[in-house]
Amino acid sequence: MSTESTDCLFCKIVAGEVPSETVASNDRVVAFKDIDPQAPMHVLVVPRDHHGDIAQLAAADPALLADVVALADEVAGTLADGQFRLVFNSGPRAGQSVFHVHGHVLGGTQLGWQPA
Ligand code: 5GP
Repeated sequence: MSTESTDCLFCKIVAGEVPSETVASNDRVVAFKDIDPQAPMHVLVVPRDHHGDIAQLAAADPALLADVVALADEVAGTLADGQFRLVFNSGPRAGQSVFHVHGHVLGGTQLGWQPA
């Protein structure tokens, strides 16, 4: 699906119906601070169009996925070292809780690796 979903939290954030702290945006993608940051930088990068997860986005509009990655890189460019992790949880067992595809941009510290 590539239209706004009325009961989707991130569609509401993109539409400005739910407040968020936007850090970057363009006509296709919005980046805003995560409400529960797990690192000094923890920004969510979401397409304005509704797609459920990264696989659905890649299949429906690969150029839009590239736009998401490009905005993530732009956001991370504000870090002193420019180094970041980009995470897409896909499905509940992977930790996805909001079913509007989003990349987590994490950085600003030495990141560990403990997914379980
Ligand atoms: P997921 O678990 O789906 O990979 O990531 C969802 C993320 O959305 C979580 O990191 C969570 O903290 C964040 N989140 C949930 N509700 C809100 C909200 O209302 N505003 C913002 N800015 N982030 C949210």
